[in-house]
Amino acid sequence: MAMQSLPIARLLLGLILSIPISYFAYRAGSLSASGILGAVLVGTATFGYGGWSWGLLLIGFFATSSALSQYRAREKEPLAEKFAKGGKRDLAQTIANGGVGAALAVLNFYFPSQFWIAAFWGSIATASADTWGTELGVLSSRRPRLITTGRQVAVGTSGAVSGLGLLASLGGALAMAVFEIFLFWSLGPQITLGMGSAAIISGFAGSLIDSLLGATVQVVYWCPLDEVETERFPTHNCGTPTIYYRGWKWLNNDGVNFLATLCGSIVAGGLWTFLG
Ligand SMILES: [Zn+2]
Repeated sequence: MAMQSLPIARLLLGLILSIPISYFAYRAGSLSASGILGAVLVGTATFGYGGWSWGLLLIGFFATSSALSQYRAREKEPLAEKFAKGGKRDLAQTIANGGVGAALAVLNFYFPSQFWIAAFWGSIATASADTWGTELGVLSSRRPRLITTGRQVAVGTSGAVSGLGLLASLGGALAMAVFEIFLFWSLGPQITLGMGSAAIISGFAGSLIDSLLGATVQVVYWCPLDEVETERFPTHNCGTPTIYYRGWKWLNNDGVNFLATLCGSIVAGGLWTFLG
């Protein structure tokens, strides 16, 4: 059996590159301390098993997402009471966004196929579409609506969408698709235009799945003092203990992000099978 062994040299190089990038992101306020560990794990595996094109795509996604989190950060500060975490990504968040991609890099290393590349593009496009949709969508002057019922809800509510947010999601998927085509065309194995189209469609679809799960099954808590829905548990940022409000208790925002990137990669792999 001609199975390749561990790509030790490349894993080491991935580790050597991931540590300073993660530390820089930590100092810039984009990662928490545990987020450094997550980013180093995801970065080392993705670069080690995927190589330069996979690793640079991950860095490109991470850099643009972090920049968007910092963009007009002061206007987003009031929303911190809604979201489980601030702009600093922690261990669970980095795994939720990059874990599927890292697993696909491992699969592609041992069983090389364009299918895994298409799926990887889909997972990154989904994570990007979701981040752009959230970080730019919350700046919308109009109140968003729940993706399920169309009911107007407060900005930052799980599962809420706005015209600006949807447009931003599409932009996030499109931007990653362009970057993916450029990177893999110049550095990587042969690619097809079908893979680029699959990335755009799957990224947008994945972000819609993210909103759908957020509106239906994601766990949401309630602050009795402020009388608002929040992702924060066990205490709201006002200090009041939050109580269970709706959704599956085991499925938090990180779980939803993980499922969305998984769905995005499956959609992309499926589309690649048809489009080539
Ligand atoms: Zn409160």
